[in-house]
Amino acid sequence: MYKNFKSVGKCVFGRGSFNQLDSILAEKRTSNDSYVVFLLDNYFKDKALANKIPLRGKDQLIWVDVDAHEPTTEQIDQLNAHIRELSPSLPIALVGIGGGSVMDIAKATSMMLTNEGLAQQYQGLNLIKNQGVYHIGIPTLAGTGAEVSMTAVLTGPTKKLGIKCDYTVFDQIVLDPDLIANAPKNQWFYTGMDTYIHCIESLTGTMLNEFSKAYGLKSLDLCREVFNQYGQNPEGDEKLMIASYMGGLSLTYSEVGVCHALSYGLSYVFGYRHGIANCIAFDELHDYYGDAVIEFKEMVKKHNVDIPKGLSKNWKEEEVAKMAQTAYALEHMWKHAVGQHWKEVITQDKIMELYYRM
Ligand code: NAD
Ligand code: ZN
Repeated sequence: MYKNFKSVGKCVFGRGSFNQLDSILAEKRTSNDSYVVFLLDNYFKDKALANKIPLRGKDQLIWVDVDAHEPTTEQIDQLNAHIRELSPSLPIALVGIGGGSVMDIAKATSMMLTNEGLAQQYQGLNLIKNQGVYHIGIPTLAGTGAEVSMTAVLTGPTKKLGIKCDYTVFDQIVLDPDLIANAPKNQWFYTGMDTYIHCIESLTGTMLNEFSKAYGLKSLDLCREVFNQYGQNPEGDEKLMIASYMGGLSLTYSEVGVCHALSYGLSYVFGYRHGIANCIAFDELHDYYGDAVIEFKEMVKKHNVDIPKGLSKNWKEEEVAKMAQTAYALEHMWKHAVGQHWKEVITQDKIMELYYRM
């Protein structure tokens, strides 16, 4: 069976394209009662972007905190309850503005407004029954590919797993490179490296195919231009946004690998954010990704970024075992990275050994 994947409905790209949001929403506003909910990363609370949100009539702006932890099912349930209390009718659109976390929060909240129950019930593939509220994603960091992916990654009471189905994918995205311009260097690098690692992993595994390869290779070229040449400037920002988009498509039609499996364990047990968790893991994966790890280390050095080292000396054995258990459960990633017979090569002890290198 080949993947039958759903792409974003509409996409605007270009510096300053955020200013088109009002006209994009105007097409959706059908009556005086119609209202839009904006979910805005609270990083922007005192920033110019907050004043540029095209609020009209009964629109609501909700600040979203993504600093305490990665998006959780509980957070989605709270947002869902809050929005349902605002009005007996549904919003005509839900707009998420922020990094990958807000992208996932917007996707999941859109689903939960039209599906009964708790978000944790829908963690998995094709469990959502009804189409969500029209949802628009506007990334303010580039690299996760969450703006194009079919998944809203959530940490629930028992697992970190996405809500994934055709409905999850954004109906509209607005890619404005100006929005990522002022990200602190470490954050720019960690999130940007997510796309570099998506490409390396999707391009080096058993599920690779020409479709994924075309996006992956182009995205990798763009990443190299950004991290070896342009850095953080307007041209680099444009390139990184497209790299993120293409890297997301590359992995959608292939799969991520060893680094993402280990990264999920780090996030689940210690709460490391996705971008930095990937960097911590990738730094130690020369056995699997060879020259790409050497190139990664050079980029780290060039940009003088902090990659935490020597972490495992403070970890308890049961914590490492829990991470290994989390990583081992991501069968599809190991199957892609190592092959159908991955269980003959990868054991939980082997994974623990990889964690002890960090
Ligand atoms: P993030 O969204 O978690 O944000 C990181 C920090 O940067 C936060 O403090 C945020 O407030 C801040 N921030 C956001 N925009 C900023 C800006 N322009 N300038 C300065 N600070 C800014 O970071 P991320 O790396 O974009 O996203 C990570 C999340 O994405 C994780 O939760 C991960 O699970 C998810 N993810 C999802 C997919 C997917 O396919 N759905 C893929 C990869 C990662
Ligand atoms: Zn990733």
